[in-house]
Amino acid sequence: MRIVTSPSEMLRMVKEARLRGESVGLVPTMGFFHAGHLSLMRAAREENDFVVVSLFVNPTQFGPQEDFRDYPRDLARDAQKAAEAGVDCIFHPRVEDMYPQPYLTYVVVEGVTEGLCGASRPGHFRGVATVVAKLFHIIPAHRAYFGLKDAQQVMVIRRLVEDLNFDIEVVACPTVREEDGLAMSSRNIYLEEEERRAATVLYRSLCLAEDMAARGERDASKVTAAMRELMASEPLVEPEYVEAVDWGMLKPVKRLQGEVLIAVAARVGKARLIDNLILDLRDEGGGR
Ligand code: AMP
Repeated sequence: MRIVTSPSEMLRMVKEARLRGESVGLVPTMGFFHAGHLSLMRAAREENDFVVVSLFVNPTQFGPQEDFRDYPRDLARDAQKAAEAGVDCIFHPRVEDMYPQPYLTYVVVEGVTEGLCGASRPGHFRGVATVVAKLFHIIPAHRAYFGLKDAQQVMVIRRLVEDLNFDIEVVACPTVREEDGLAMSSRNIYLEEEERRAATVLYRSLCLAEDMAARGERDASKVTAAMRELMASEPLVEPEYVEAVDWGMLKPVKRLQGEVLIAVAARVGKARLIDNLILDLRDEGGGR
């Protein structure tokens, strides 16, 4: 497995792979790999001849008070895990090569970035869309793999690809969880023992929403109220949002119908955690 730092060398390698007739899969990441990242790498490995994982803690998607400096980094461990997953190449650029000064060009996806994490993290999705557009140019892949753990991000990338005519298939992969349901995240490392236990309430609140929907509840505000009440039972967990939005434009819904994204974000100690599930109620039609 190669580790490439230069954007121009990376582009040359991918062009050569394409000239050889190989299909190219890209997995964009910020590193500190866990089973969620590895599931994306395995999916990419199965579906492509040449697999590139980008590993870049992207400064433009962090707010000034956020954890850019503290974000966990361990290239040696990541390289070993990626190699074991059958990755061909890690693209690990330097910040100054991705954002040479003066850097003036950004990509803004509107609409789907307004609510949820977009509301509490101004500029976050501008940074995400910008770095992903750059990665798509440096690594012109056939397919790019993203985790549904970051569901809003998946929607932002889908819009980016559609609206700016990127010739790339966006593959969304399911959320990988710990045994007790906590969604895997590089940021889970920030959790103290008690916080780690309390953090499972995010997943438990999503399960509650799923149960209520399965029992026929269709009033979104009743479901989110019950989720908030459950989350309030964990004093170490400070909810940021608990929302039901349509899985499309990500606008709040009153009724649960069609495809609905139930999404939560909360602070637990030093960590800001997110989780979600997509309720698929399409077979009920639009009725009532
Ligand atoms: P990150 O390194 O946190 O930016 O994540 C890189 C990619 O891995 C993103 O597409 C994430 O959505 C995905 N990812 C992160 N955590 C998980 C998880 N628990 N399950 C599935 N995918 C994940």
